[in-house]
Amino acid sequence: MSDDDRVYSYSAVLMGSPILLKLFSHDEALASRVFRLIKQYEDLLTVNRADSQVMDINHAAGSHPVSVSRPVYELIRCAKAASAFPGSAFNLAIGPLVKRWKIGFKGDTVPPADEIARLLAITRPEDVLLDDDRCSVFLTRPGMEIDLGAIAKGYIADRVRDYLRKEGAELGLINLGGNVQTLGSPQGGWSVGLKKPFAPDALIGALEVENMSVVTSGTYERFFEHNGKRYHHILDPRTGYPLDNELDSVTIISKNSIDGDIWTTLAYGMGVEKGCAALRARPDIEAIFVTKTKEVVLSSAHLFRFTLLDDDYRVTDNTA
Ligand code: AMP
Ligand code: MG
Repeated sequence: MSDDDRVYSYSAVLMGSPILLKLFSHDEALASRVFRLIKQYEDLLTVNRADSQVMDINHAAGSHPVSVSRPVYELIRCAKAASAFPGSAFNLAIGPLVKRWKIGFKGDTVPPADEIARLLAITRPEDVLLDDDRCSVFLTRPGMEIDLGAIAKGYIADRVRDYLRKEGAELGLINLGGNVQTLGSPQGGWSVGLKKPFAPDALIGALEVENMSVVTSGTYERFFEHNGKRYHHILDPRTGYPLDNELDSVTIISKNSIDGDIWTTLAYGMGVEKGCAALRARPDIEAIFVTKTKEVVLSSAHLFRFTLLDDDYRVTDNTA
Protein backbone atom coordinates (compact mmCIF):
# COMPACT_ATOMS: atom_id res chain seq x y z
CA MET A 1 0.00 0.00 0.00
CA SER A 2 1.49 3.34 -0.97
CA ASP A 3 1.34 6.32 1.38
CA ASP A 4 -1.46 7.80 -0.72
CA ASP A 5 -3.69 4.82 0.01
CA ARG A 6 -3.46 5.16 3.77
CA VAL A 7 -6.64 5.73 5.70
CA TYR A 8 -6.51 8.15 8.62
CA SER A 9 -9.17 7.78 11.32
CA TYR A 10 -10.35 10.52 13.68
CA SER A 11 -12.84 10.00 16.49
CA ALA A 12 -14.95 12.03 18.89
CA VAL A 13 -18.01 11.56 21.08
CA LEU A 14 -20.89 13.79 20.01
CA MET A 15 -24.70 13.45 20.12
CA GLY A 16 -24.20 10.76 22.78
CA SER A 17 -22.50 8.53 20.19
CA PRO A 18 -18.99 7.62 19.12
CA ILE A 19 -18.23 9.48 15.88
CA LEU A 20 -15.67 8.22 13.39
CA LEU A 21 -14.22 10.13 10.44
CA LYS A 22 -11.99 8.45 7.86
CA LEU A 23 -9.88 10.45 5.43
CA PHE A 24 -7.26 9.47 2.89
CA SER A 25 -4.92 12.26 3.90
CA HIS A 26 -3.62 13.24 7.30
CA ASP A 27 -5.53 16.43 8.08
CA GLU A 28 -6.29 17.02 11.74
CA ALA A 29 -7.44 20.58 11.07
CA LEU A 30 -10.09 19.32 8.64
CA ALA A 31 -11.19 16.66 11.13
CA SER A 32 -11.58 19.33 13.86
CA ARG A 33 -13.67 21.47 11.52
CA VAL A 34 -15.90 18.48 10.72
CA PHE A 35 -16.43 17.73 14.42
CA ARG A 36 -17.20 21.42 15.06
CA LEU A 37 -19.79 21.35 12.26
CA ILE A 38 -21.46 18.28 13.79
CA LYS A 39 -21.51 19.99 17.19
CA GLN A 40 -23.14 23.10 15.70
CA TYR A 41 -25.95 21.05 14.18
CA GLU A 42 -26.37 19.08 17.40
CA ASP A 43 -26.78 22.36 19.29
CA LEU A 44 -29.57 23.42 16.92
CA LEU A 45 -31.45 20.12 16.87
CA THR A 46 -31.05 18.34 20.20
CA VAL A 47 -33.98 17.66 22.53
CA ASN A 48 -31.75 16.16 25.21
CA ARG A 49 -30.93 19.58 26.66
CA ALA A 50 -33.10 22.49 27.77
CA ASP A 51 -32.18 24.81 24.92
CA SER A 52 -31.90 24.40 21.17
CA GLN A 53 -34.02 25.74 18.33
CA VAL A 54 -36.15 22.59 18.50
CA MET A 55 -36.59 22.99 22.26
CA ASP A 56 -37.68 26.62 21.72
CA ILE A 57 -40.52 25.23 19.58
CA ASN A 58 -41.36 22.60 22.22
CA HIS A 59 -41.39 25.13 25.07
CA ALA A 60 -43.96 27.20 23.15
CA ALA A 61 -46.36 24.27 22.58
CA GLY A 62 -49.99 25.30 22.96
CA SER A 63 -48.94 28.93 23.14
CA HIS A 64 -47.37 30.45 20.01
CA PRO A 65 -45.41 29.73 16.80
CA VAL A 66 -41.60 29.98 16.91
CA SER A 67 -39.44 31.07 13.97
CA VAL A 68 -36.30 29.00 13.45
CA SER A 69 -33.36 29.04 11.04
CA ARG A 70 -34.00 27.84 7.48
CA PRO A 71 -32.11 24.50 7.81
CA VAL A 72 -33.96 23.57 11.01
CA TYR A 73 -37.27 24.53 9.41
CA GLU A 74 -36.57 22.48 6.27
CA LEU A 75 -35.61 19.45 8.36
CA ILE A 76 -38.85 19.72 10.34
CA ARG A 77 -40.80 20.07 7.09
CA CYS A 78 -39.14 16.91 5.79
CA ALA A 79 -39.89 15.06 9.05
CA LYS A 80 -43.53 16.15 8.89
CA ALA A 81 -43.82 14.93 5.28
CA ALA A 82 -42.41 11.51 6.29
CA SER A 83 -44.94 11.39 9.13
CA ALA A 84 -47.79 11.99 6.68
CA PHE A 85 -47.25 8.90 4.47
CA PRO A 86 -50.29 6.63 4.81
CA GLY A 87 -49.65 4.17 7.65
CA SER A 88 -46.26 5.78 8.39
CA ALA A 89 -44.42 4.50 11.48
CA PHE A 90 -42.45 7.74 11.45
CA ASN A 91 -43.82 10.50 13.67
CA LEU A 92 -41.92 13.73 14.34
CA ALA A 93 -44.31 14.56 17.21
CA ILE A 94 -43.47 11.36 19.14
CA GLY A 95 -41.53 13.43 21.74
CA PRO A 96 -43.88 13.11 24.77
CA LEU A 97 -43.78 9.30 24.52
CA VAL A 98 -39.99 9.18 24.00
CA LYS A 99 -39.50 11.42 27.05
CA ARG A 100 -41.88 9.33 29.17
CA TRP A 101 -40.37 5.93 28.29
CA LYS A 102 -36.79 7.29 28.64
CA ILE A 103 -35.54 4.18 26.86
CA GLY A 104 -31.76 3.97 27.07
CA PHE A 105 -31.65 6.71 29.70
CA LYS A 106 -31.61 6.60 33.50
CA GLY A 107 -35.07 5.92 34.93
CA ASP A 108 -36.56 4.03 31.96
CA THR A 109 -39.82 2.34 32.97
CA VAL A 110 -42.96 0.89 31.37
CA PRO A 111 -45.57 3.66 31.68
CA PRO A 112 -49.13 2.78 32.80
CA ALA A 113 -51.46 2.12 29.82
CA ASP A 114 -53.76 5.06 30.60
CA GLU A 115 -50.79 7.42 30.57
CA ILE A 116 -49.68 6.12 27.16
CA ALA A 117 -53.20 6.67 25.84
CA ARG A 118 -53.17 10.23 27.20
CA LEU A 119 -49.76 10.98 25.66
CA LEU A 120 -50.77 9.49 22.27
CA ALA A 121 -53.36 12.27 22.00
CA ILE A 122 -50.58 14.89 21.93
CA THR A 123 -48.43 13.18 19.28
CA ARG A 124 -50.47 13.99 16.16
CA PRO A 125 -48.27 15.20 13.25
CA GLU A 126 -51.27 17.21 11.94
CA ASP A 127 -50.99 19.38 15.07
CA VAL A 128 -47.54 20.56 13.96
CA LEU A 129 -48.35 23.69 11.94
CA LEU A 130 -45.75 25.09 9.53
CA ASP A 131 -45.46 28.54 7.99
CA ASP A 132 -43.04 28.59 5.03
CA ASP A 133 -42.84 32.39 4.85
CA ARG A 134 -41.95 32.91 8.50
CA CYS A 135 -40.00 29.63 8.88
CA SER A 136 -42.14 29.12 11.96
CA VAL A 137 -43.41 26.01 13.69
CA PHE A 138 -46.44 25.91 16.00
CA LEU A 139 -47.33 22.92 18.17
CA THR A 140 -51.02 23.55 18.76
CA ARG A 141 -51.51 21.47 21.94
CA PRO A 142 -49.82 22.03 25.31
CA GLY A 143 -47.28 19.30 26.12
CA MET A 144 -46.51 18.51 22.48
CA GLU A 145 -42.84 17.88 21.61
CA ILE A 146 -40.99 17.42 18.35
CA ASP A 147 -38.24 14.75 18.42
CA LEU A 148 -35.84 14.63 15.47
CA GLY A 149 -33.83 11.71 16.88
CA ALA A 150 -34.80 9.46 13.97
CA ILE A 151 -33.67 11.89 11.26
CA ALA A 152 -31.06 14.32 12.66
CA LYS A 153 -28.02 12.07 12.25
CA GLY A 154 -28.89 11.35 8.64
CA TYR A 155 -29.27 15.05 7.92
CA ILE A 156 -25.97 15.87 9.63
CA ALA A 157 -24.13 13.01 7.86
CA ASP A 158 -25.17 14.57 4.52
CA ARG A 159 -23.93 18.00 5.64
CA VAL A 160 -20.56 16.45 6.56
CA ARG A 161 -20.31 14.79 3.15
CA ASP A 162 -21.12 18.12 1.44
CA TYR A 163 -18.55 19.90 3.59
CA LEU A 164 -15.80 17.38 2.84
CA ARG A 165 -16.54 17.72 -0.88
CA LYS A 166 -16.45 21.53 -0.64
CA GLU A 167 -13.09 21.33 1.14
CA GLY A 168 -11.70 19.37 -1.81
CA ALA A 169 -11.63 15.91 -0.26
CA GLU A 170 -12.23 13.19 -2.85
CA LEU A 171 -12.63 10.38 -0.35
CA GLY A 172 -14.12 10.32 3.12
CA LEU A 173 -16.38 8.37 5.44
CA ILE A 174 -18.35 9.63 8.43
CA ASN A 175 -19.96 7.27 10.92
CA LEU A 176 -22.37 9.01 13.29
CA GLY A 177 -23.03 6.11 15.63
CA GLY A 178 -24.59 3.82 13.02
CA ASN A 179 -25.34 6.41 10.32
CA VAL A 180 -22.61 6.00 7.72
CA GLN A 181 -22.16 8.37 4.78
CA THR A 182 -19.38 7.92 2.23
CA LEU A 183 -17.75 10.26 -0.26
CA GLY A 184 -16.02 8.90 -3.35
CA SER A 185 -14.91 5.48 -4.56
CA PRO A 186 -11.72 4.15 -2.99
CA GLN A 187 -10.28 1.05 -4.61
CA GLY A 188 -12.51 -1.88 -3.61
CA GLY A 189 -15.21 0.48 -2.33
CA TRP A 190 -15.94 1.39 1.28
CA SER A 191 -16.55 -1.59 3.52
CA VAL A 192 -19.35 -1.13 6.08
CA GLY A 193 -20.13 -3.84 8.64
CA LEU A 194 -23.65 -5.14 9.28
CA LYS A 195 -23.86 -5.61 13.04
CA LYS A 196 -25.04 -8.82 14.63
CA PRO A 197 -27.96 -7.98 16.95
CA PHE A 198 -27.25 -8.26 20.68
CA ALA A 199 -23.63 -9.29 20.00
CA PRO A 200 -21.42 -6.24 20.47
CA ASP A 201 -18.58 -6.09 17.93
CA ALA A 202 -19.76 -9.18 15.97
CA LEU A 203 -20.81 -8.80 12.32
CA ILE A 204 -23.37 -10.70 10.24
CA GLY A 205 -21.79 -9.47 7.05
CA ALA A 206 -20.15 -6.63 5.19
CA LEU A 207 -21.46 -4.20 2.58
CA GLU A 208 -19.33 -2.63 -0.09
CA VAL A 209 -20.52 0.80 -1.26
CA GLU A 210 -19.31 3.85 -3.16
CA ASN A 211 -20.76 7.34 -2.73
CA MET A 212 -23.60 5.87 -0.68
CA SER A 213 -25.08 6.12 2.77
CA VAL A 214 -25.69 3.07 4.98
CA VAL A 215 -28.02 3.59 7.95
CA THR A 216 -29.08 0.95 10.46
CA SER A 217 -31.84 1.02 13.06
CA GLY A 218 -31.99 -1.91 15.42
CA THR A 219 -33.88 -2.99 18.51
CA TYR A 220 -30.51 -3.89 20.06
CA GLU A 221 -29.23 -0.30 19.89
CA ARG A 222 -31.10 1.01 22.92
CA PHE A 223 -33.41 -1.01 25.13
CA PHE A 224 -34.20 -2.10 28.67
CA GLU A 225 -35.68 -5.26 30.13
CA HIS A 226 -38.59 -5.53 32.54
CA ASN A 227 -40.18 -8.78 33.75
CA GLY A 228 -38.28 -10.70 31.09
CA LYS A 229 -39.57 -8.53 28.24
CA ARG A 230 -37.37 -6.29 26.13
CA TYR A 231 -38.46 -2.69 25.36
CA HIS A 232 -36.51 -0.89 22.62
CA HIS A 233 -36.28 2.73 21.45
CA ILE A 234 -38.26 2.67 18.18
CA LEU A 235 -41.83 3.40 19.19
CA ASP A 236 -44.96 2.55 17.24
CA PRO A 237 -46.84 5.85 16.91
CA ARG A 238 -50.10 3.92 16.54
CA THR A 239 -49.83 2.17 19.93
CA GLY A 240 -47.31 4.17 21.93
CA TYR A 241 -45.31 0.96 22.65
CA PRO A 242 -42.06 -0.24 21.01
CA LEU A 243 -42.65 -1.55 17.48
CA ASP A 244 -43.10 -5.28 17.74
CA ASN A 245 -42.62 -7.44 14.66
CA GLU A 246 -40.32 -10.07 13.13
CA LEU A 247 -37.33 -7.69 12.89
CA ASP A 248 -34.10 -7.22 14.81
CA SER A 249 -32.77 -4.50 12.48
CA VAL A 250 -33.22 -2.67 9.19
CA THR A 251 -30.39 -1.19 7.14
CA ILE A 252 -31.06 1.27 4.33
CA ILE A 253 -28.68 1.98 1.46
CA SER A 254 -29.36 5.29 -0.32
CA LYS A 255 -27.59 8.26 -1.84
CA ASN A 256 -28.60 10.62 0.95
CA SER A 257 -28.39 9.61 4.57
CA ILE A 258 -31.53 11.57 5.46
CA ASP A 259 -33.54 9.18 3.24
CA GLY A 260 -31.82 6.25 4.91
CA ASP A 261 -32.67 7.59 8.36
CA ILE A 262 -36.33 8.14 7.48
CA TRP A 263 -36.65 4.82 5.68
CA THR A 264 -35.18 2.73 8.49
CA THR A 265 -38.16 3.83 10.60
CA LEU A 266 -40.69 3.47 7.75
CA ALA A 267 -39.39 0.02 6.78
CA TYR A 268 -39.28 -1.04 10.42
CA GLY A 269 -42.97 -0.26 10.68
CA MET A 270 -43.76 -2.12 7.44
CA GLY A 271 -41.85 -5.33 8.17
CA VAL A 272 -40.15 -7.49 5.52
CA GLU A 273 -42.99 -8.17 3.10
CA LYS A 274 -44.61 -4.74 2.92
CA GLY A 275 -41.18 -3.08 3.11
CA CYS A 276 -39.85 -4.98 0.07
CA ALA A 277 -43.09 -4.24 -1.82
CA ALA A 278 -42.88 -0.51 -1.04
CA LEU A 279 -39.24 -0.34 -2.10
CA ARG A 280 -40.00 -1.83 -5.52
CA ALA A 281 -41.25 1.68 -6.40
CA ARG A 282 -37.99 3.23 -5.11
CA PRO A 283 -34.97 1.89 -7.05
CA ASP A 284 -32.88 4.61 -5.37
CA ILE A 285 -33.39 3.05 -1.93
CA GLU A 286 -32.53 -0.51 -0.87
CA ALA A 287 -33.00 -2.33 2.43
CA ILE A 288 -31.46 -5.18 4.37
CA PHE A 289 -33.88 -6.68 6.87
CA VAL A 290 -32.48 -8.85 9.67
CA THR A 291 -35.14 -11.00 11.32
CA LYS A 292 -35.31 -12.56 14.76
CA THR A 293 -35.16 -15.97 13.02
CA LYS A 294 -31.74 -15.11 11.51
CA GLU A 295 -32.81 -14.33 7.99
CA VAL A 296 -31.12 -11.54 6.05
CA VAL A 297 -33.49 -10.25 3.36
CA LEU A 298 -32.18 -7.88 0.68
CA SER A 299 -35.02 -5.88 -0.95
CA SER A 300 -32.62 -5.74 -3.93
CA ALA A 301 -28.86 -5.22 -4.23
CA HIS A 302 -27.94 -2.89 -7.08
CA LEU A 303 -26.44 -0.10 -4.96
CA PHE A 304 -24.15 -2.32 -2.87
CA ARG A 305 -22.49 -5.72 -2.64
CA PHE A 306 -23.15 -7.93 0.35
CA THR A 307 -20.89 -10.62 1.83
CA LEU A 308 -22.24 -12.93 4.53
CA LEU A 309 -19.76 -13.52 7.37
CA ASP A 310 -21.90 -15.50 9.84
CA ASP A 311 -23.10 -18.98 8.87
CA ASP A 312 -25.95 -18.85 11.41
CA TYR A 313 -27.74 -16.48 9.03
CA ARG A 314 -29.40 -17.20 5.65
CA VAL A 315 -29.57 -14.61 2.87
CA THR A 316 -32.55 -13.99 0.59
CA ASP A 317 -31.80 -11.61 -2.28
CA ASN A 318 -34.93 -10.24 -4.01
CA THR A 319 -32.91 -8.61 -6.79
CA ALA A 320 -34.81 -9.43 -9.97
P1 AMP B 1 -33.09 5.85 14.85
O1 AMP B 1 -31.85 5.70 15.69
O2 AMP B 1 -32.87 6.60 13.60
O3 AMP B 1 -33.79 4.54 14.66
O4 AMP B 1 -34.09 6.76 15.69
C1 AMP B 1 -34.50 6.41 16.98
C2 AMP B 1 -34.90 7.64 17.73
O5 AMP B 1 -35.98 8.31 17.08
C3 AMP B 1 -35.43 7.34 19.12
O6 AMP B 1 -34.39 7.31 20.06
C4 AMP B 1 -36.40 8.48 19.37
O7 AMP B 1 -35.71 9.66 19.77
C5 AMP B 1 -36.98 8.71 18.00
N1 AMP B 1 -38.17 7.89 17.69
C6 AMP B 1 -38.61 6.75 18.30
N2 AMP B 1 -39.69 6.26 17.68
C7 AMP B 1 -39.95 7.09 16.63
C8 AMP B 1 -40.94 7.11 15.61
N3 AMP B 1 -41.87 6.19 15.51
N4 AMP B 1 -40.89 8.13 14.71
C9 AMP B 1 -39.93 9.08 14.78
N5 AMP B 1 -38.99 9.11 15.71
C10 AMP B 1 -38.98 8.13 16.64
MG1 MG C 1 -33.72 6.79 11.68
